[in-house]
Amino acid sequence: MHELKIAQDLSAIVLEAAEKENLSKVTKVSISFGQLIQIVPDIFEFAFREAVRGTVSQDAELTIEIVPVKMRCNECRTDFEVKHSLFRCSFCGSTDLNILTGKELFVKSIEGE
Ligand SMILES: [Zn+2]
Repeated sequence: MHELKIAQDLSAIVLEAAEKENLSKVTKVSISFGQLIQIVPDIFEFAFREAVRGTVSQDAELTIEIVPVKMRCNECRTDFEVKHSLFRCSFCGSTDLNILTGKELFVKSIEGE
């Protein structure tokens, strides 16, 4: 259930940004998660709703974007997308890999008025 903690952290970021921009109402929030964060979007949305209840963000439309996991093989330098959590180079089979994307966790954009 790490969704709860993440939702609290991200809602705090949203509220801080809304305050800085002098928004009286946040209409849209877009959030990016890397697949490695292993967020369950429904649980996250529920937790986020709880976290922003009674704030200027409470009616915001929430968009969650999941960023696929991409890795680079240190043996053959191939970049590939990880599927089915198989952490092995799809070209040479090496497990000596660098993570390129998949650990993202940030508020991508906020809209309001
Ligand atoms: Zn390889």
